[in-house]
Amino acid sequence: MEKRTADLWVTEYQTGNMRLGLRLKEILCNKQTPYQHLLVVDTFEYGKVMLLDGAIQITEKDEFTYHEMMAHVLMCSHPNPQRVLVVGGGDGGTVREVVKHPSLEKVFLVDIDEEVINASRKYFPSVSSELDNEKVEIKPMDAIKFIKKMRDYFDVVIVDSTDPVDFAAGLFKSDFYMDVFNALRDNGMMIAQTESPFAEADIVKGAYDEMSKVFPIVKLCWGAMPTYPTGMWTYTVGSKGPDPSKPLRDVPVETRYYSRSIHEASFVLPRFVRELLSEEEGK
Ligand code: SAM
Repeated sequence: MEKRTADLWVTEYQTGNMRLGLRLKEILCNKQTPYQHLLVVDTFEYGKVMLLDGAIQITEKDEFTYHEMMAHVLMCSHPNPQRVLVVGGGDGGTVREVVKHPSLEKVFLVDIDEEVINASRKYFPSVSSELDNEKVEIKPMDAIKFIKKMRDYFDVVIVDSTDPVDFAAGLFKSDFYMDVFNALRDNGMMIAQTESPFAEADIVKGAYDEMSKVFPIVKLCWGAMPTYPTGMWTYTVGSKGPDPSKPLRDVPVETRYYSRSIHEASFVLPRFVRELLSEEEGK
């Protein structure tokens, strides 16, 4: 009889009817934090991967596409982004991109779960590389509480959250967007990751509608994100004035996904997305 070996796989149940499976080299961390289940695995296809409550957050191979979009779209379209807030984002990938901008004076990273930050420092050094930068202040707390205390302070707010479940659900609601609006200075802008129009059309539409209750300008952009459900990912921007679809400067460093052309193109929406939002934006 031939010798047999067992395969180890991690399965993300992306929807009730769709899964992503990745074959594992190794399980690196498997624990319950005070807030969520934290799993870090090493995979053949995507390198190291972090999952929270069974949902992929980052992979070594494709995290750059998401983090470059989250950071550079607003850092390049705000007239002078000096003070930035990252909500969630405990892995540090968005902060790593934000600190590349010379106008930055200070960035707060507010993630409810310190164990995500610690796991990223340990297993994803290339993602968490700027967490000790002197411009970065880490606040391990609920961002919904943090934002209520801030007034006229930030230029850019980036909501790099988990899916709208449990303690992250409020981050997709107009009450939170109103608190963000109040925490922004004149010309302030916010961007939030808002899921896939194929897998979670109601979340895309819901976030857009909720943000539209608060911000005078709301626009959607999108990009590739292979390990998130369906690979097509949306980002929704609320602005007090500047047009987020118009980059005012080039990104100051070499990037692998984001560019001025990608920025402009990302706001061109396919018709089915425009119809989902029930408007003619992005033609
Ligand atoms: N890009 C990722 C995605 O879409 O899957 C998100 C990455 S980041 C690790 C998400 C972080 O949001 C988590 O570390 C989680 O702890 C944090 N988070 C969720 N709700 C939060 C809240 N209310 N306040 C602060 N952080 C929150």
